Amino acid sequence: MSPQILPRWLRPTDRILEGAYPSGKPPFDPFPTVTEMTNAYLCPRAIYHYLLHGEDGAFTPHTTAEGWKAGDTFHKFVDHLKTSIAQGSLNLGSQKDDTGKLYQIWSLFMDFAANLDKREIIWSEYVKPWAENNLNDLVAMRPGHRTLFEITVSSEHIGFATEGGGNRTYPLTGRIDEIDIDNKKIIERTIKQTATCKDFQVWLLWKTLTAIPRDRYPEAWNDVDFSEFELWVETPQENFPVTKVNPDFERRAHDCYAWIHNLTFDPLAVWEAYTESFRICTLENKNADCGLSWMCFLHKQQFPLGRNEMRRKFKDMYRALLWDKMWSADLLQYKFVRRNEEELEEWGLVCRGRVIPGTSNDNAFQVTLPSAQANLISAKATDESSNFLIVFGNMSIGQRLKATLENRGQDVFSITIEDNDGFAILGDPLIATVGEDLLVFEERPTYLITGIQRNVHRLEYRGIKDELRAKEDSKIQLIEGVFGRKRIKKARS
Ligand code: SF4
Repeated sequence: MSPQILPRWLRPTDRILEGAYPSGKPPFDPFPTVTEMTNAYLCPRAIYHYLLHGEDGAFTPHTTAEGWKAGDTFHKFVDHLKTSIAQGSLNLGSQKDDTGKLYQIWSLFMDFAANLDKREIIWSEYVKPWAENNLNDLVAMRPGHRTLFEITVSSEHIGFATEGGGNRTYPLTGRIDEIDIDNKKIIERTIKQTATCKDFQVWLLWKTLTAIPRDRYPEAWNDVDFSEFELWVETPQENFPVTKVNPDFERRAHDCYAWIHNLTFDPLAVWEAYTESFRICTLENKNADCGLSWMCFLHKQQFPLGRNEMRRKFKDMYRALLWDKMWSADLLQYKFVRRNEEELEEWGLVCRGRVIPGTSNDNAFQVTLPSAQANLISAKATDESSNFLIVFGNMSIGQRLKATLENRGQDVFSITIEDNDGFAILGDPLIATVGEDLLVFEERPTYLITGIQRNVHRLEYRGIKDELRAKEDSKIQLIEGVFGRKRIKKARS
């Protein structure tokens, strides 16, 4: 498909935002994530699988390093290391030479990754080369250095230049690995050796950050001008600068939005995505870095014979599930960026809490919540399926953390942050700058919809070559019974 620019991106009207009954094709375009955009940037087939089949593995191939959680550990440790320096609990300047400084970092890493079998390999392959590359910057950091990690940014109107000198706006949300306020840098990290796709990612995140209205920034950032910030992609071996004025990225962004729109609404776009993908990735010339190659180039086995019929039946279901998710997650995202906190509170979507001083302990602390919402939250907090998000900042820019809540009597709740390795909750400068308030809201379980898409889609790949074994396989037989010509008979008891 040739590059294209959509005539416009359709946002939900206020009436839809305020309570349309969700049914059928949504009368608005999606609220894309930066991950969706980078999938579309990589390959139209990757975004097709992402949107319609819940397959999010294009950037996480099944490599040994991924199996060791190397990428995750690398990211979290860098956050932990820099937070330790900013909080003053690690002073690299206390060592005279580089060997001593690296030993301090090694020692911190060994404690941090104590539960990982492969921590020595992760250290030598990823963390050590990165630390050697960035040692001077780490040594120059002082206690109180303002560096923020995992900041979610969202905007409904981000401008992208068109070739005729015009501008088209779209919505976008995503999470920034690091904003180094004092050094004026925005950084994305990867354990891969190149900056491919990550450069587009950091650029999109910066566009989103700079499109957020100024009155949504925390007060202490009044003097911060993010348009001046440098963009960087860091790999373990090298740091790559990313150009902000980038006509190619502008053009590709329009393409990505067009793919997302077309694949969401138009079944014909699937054929176009396949045609386009064959231009850039074929069986003979595969993109070895793409985690979906097993799916795109798998030779399917003969059984079940009913597979084609099953695929035909499933096809419409995938898009219906995607629309279902849009009515829930995407519409909510539009509400978050278009409405202020008071309105969101009135709608019962969020509530503002106040941290009780002196109650923080590792990854837990206590808050008071408004009496009007405390009962409802208390009831939900006892429901094991409830996942809360707490936000330091607001719904346009802030640190969103998964948490569990427990009622400690009346309006007092204890909050425990989940998966908190490497985060310093109450020591984070962002929290200091926005006061000790936080937002609490319940995360909608839209990941269940994605889970259904993925599981149903994986069923299409199940297969057996041998007919005798296929006859013994209960799942294959079930598929033959439902979608093939097999007659299902009641078993004799
Ligand atoms: S394996 Fe190739 S065709 Fe498939 S999604 Fe990845 S890049 Fe596209």
